[in-house]
Amino acid sequence: MTPDFSFHSPEQKIRHPLYTQKGIEVCFKRDDMIHPFISGNKWRKLKYNLIKATEENKKHIVTFGGAWSNHILATSCAGATFGYSTEAFIRGEEVENPILTMCKLFGMQLHFVSREAYQHKKELFTTSIHRDHAYFIDEGGYGIEAVRGCKEIITELSTPYQHIFCAAGTGTTAAGLALALAENELNSQLHVVPVLKGGDFMAEEMKKLRAPLQQTILHTDYHFGGYAKTTPELIAFVKDFVAQTGVMVEPIYTGKALFALHHLIEQNTFQVGERILFIHTGGLTGLLGMLDKFN
Ligand SMILES: *Cc1c(COP(=O)(O)O)cnc(C)c1O
Repeated sequence: MTPDFSFHSPEQKIRHPLYTQKGIEVCFKRDDMIHPFISGNKWRKLKYNLIKATEENKKHIVTFGGAWSNHILATSCAGATFGYSTEAFIRGEEVENPILTMCKLFGMQLHFVSREAYQHKKELFTTSIHRDHAYFIDEGGYGIEAVRGCKEIITELSTPYQHIFCAAGTGTTAAGLALALAENELNSQLHVVPVLKGGDFMAEEMKKLRAPLQQTILHTDYHFGGYAKTTPELIAFVKDFVAQTGVMVEPIYTGKALFALHHLIEQNTFQVGERILFIHTGGLTGLLGMLDKFN
């Protein structure tokens, strides 16, 4: 059976006083609504990997990630949904948390490995339980199949936008967006917000995935200290945005990209009447690891 990935996420106009004041329109591509566990861009990235696994007659998925990985959770649920067994190598010491508990509920086998061992993913893969019919998916779903899935964020759109915003971790989603814009001759400006420190490397990552960068601007000043780091200013922004709009975001990815968008709007970067699309890449279960920050 080929997995059914036919769901299209809605484009939704968001009401916020800042947008009204500046005379711009902001829509969200609600990839967070695709699925509660196979969330956002992780669904996009899994799609062509799972289709390929089926074509190669492989029924066992092996993947990699940190203990709070949205990708690990997505893979465990996709496996249970579409009939694959799943196994994951988790970086670092054995821990328990709500994400890993849900992964186990979805039937995923977990192995905790040292940071040194984790560097050698191909070697770990050869030790997996069903290695002769196992399919390898890299950390975060990274790779060319994932890029192909992310292109569909663009090809699904009902109307063109002058500007498109997304958060970036590995740059796979951004690469898919950049490729799809170029291939479909859409002249939107792509604004990519790395959530890690030193985000200039994102341009190299996107190039490795064969993305053209003519339409891309990197906004590297919105990492708030690094991956999964936050500041009181970022937390206050997230609280305020969620309460004003009814759209949930989290501070690891979408909160940072949205902060960048709002900061640029405040600086009058966009002209009156311009239309902006924000890709809501999902990942709301990340909030479960940050509850203490919101109290
Ligand atoms: C994984 C993730 C990202 C990062 O996507 P990349 O393709 O690795 O750049 C962005 N947003 C959310 C919510 C994620 O879970």
